Amino acid sequence: MEVINTIRFTMPSLSVNESAARAVVSSFLIQADPTVEELSDIRTAVSEAVTNAVVHAYRGTTGNIELTVKLLRGREIYIKIRDKGCGIPDVEQAMTPLFTTAPEEERSGLGFSVMQSFMDKLSVKSSKGKGTTVIMRKRLAVHGD
Ligand code: ATP
Ligand code: MG
Repeated sequence: MEVINTIRFTMPSLSVNESAARAVVSSFLIQADPTVEELSDIRTAVSEAVTNAVVHAYRGTTGNIELTVKLLRGREIYIKIRDKGCGIPDVEQAMTPLFTTAPEEERSGLGFSVMQSFMDKLSVKSSKGKGTTVIMRKRLAVHGD
């Protein structure tokens, strides 16, 4: 992949950082001139992934979340969200729509489905006790103005 520009930042897993992450990603992506809808989709997907790290990965504790954003040649956006939390024992099951390990907290089990539908590609790698890495990609439309 040919990287045109990139940022990487680390934040503690505090829920206030869900909106901070959205804001930083949005500011970075303005250079690619996304449509309002594209930006909104990406913000939502980032939110879901960061929220998962806050509520699931570091349940009851606080750890670091690392977020990487890259603008690639061909108007492709690459986003990586990485935690070193509890990990996911069965990724396929976790990605099934409506599957949640926290139903009592009114989680609906749709975070991964949202990431999948709002982005073009989603990859989730996780090992129990070591953490989880979510990589998402989306190609922005070409528009002349
Ligand atoms: P919702 O996102 O709708 O509020 P949810 O977070 O439970 O509910 P998903 O985001 O789809 O639903 O995640 C499904 C399940 O995968 C979670 O319930 C949790 O068990 C697990 N999970 C997701 N992300 C992580 C993570 N970063 N670390 C550990 N477990 C995770
Ligand atoms: Mg979720």
